[in-house]
Amino acid sequence: MATNDYKNILEMLENSGLRATRARKIILELLAEKNRHFTPEEMLEALRERGQPLSIATLYQNLARLVEKGLVIKIVGLDGSFRYDFNHDPHDHMICSRCGKIVDVVVKGSLEGISAQPMDAEDDLTNWKILEKRVEFVGLCPECQAAEQN
Ligand SMILES: [Zn+2]
Ligand SMILES: [Zn+2]
Repeated sequence: MATNDYKNILEMLENSGLRATRARKIILELLAEKNRHFTPEEMLEALRERGQPLSIATLYQNLARLVEKGLVIKIVGLDGSFRYDFNHDPHDHMICSRCGKIVDVVVKGSLEGISAQPMDAEDDLTNWKILEKRVEFVGLCPECQAAEQN
């Protein structure tokens, strides 16, 4: 659900109780338009290229507020770097282990048969309530496969 509907973004901010500042609008517009799971560094670069530069402090402050209000989802990449996701529909990720690119995916097939066994016998999982099962696909994107062949 990548949307670049400007009115939508203003509505989202309004509904969340956050003031629709210029910084928040341009951050959400960028994420909505590209659906790319940006790192903060990539966002700074992209915003600079669009002629809408933000300082790193402003970016971090606003991302924190947007995450807190659930407008943006913070995810952790394979390398431990934080990335920001605007796709609010339940989904999983296909991640390139070489360049870190993340693609939204819908898992086909049944998750029902999957279960978790504790590795340590002292960890008892019997009273856990499972809220969600997540699957992560890790691979090499076509560009990285081509690069590795050279
Ligand atoms: Zn790659
Ligand atoms: Zn995603």
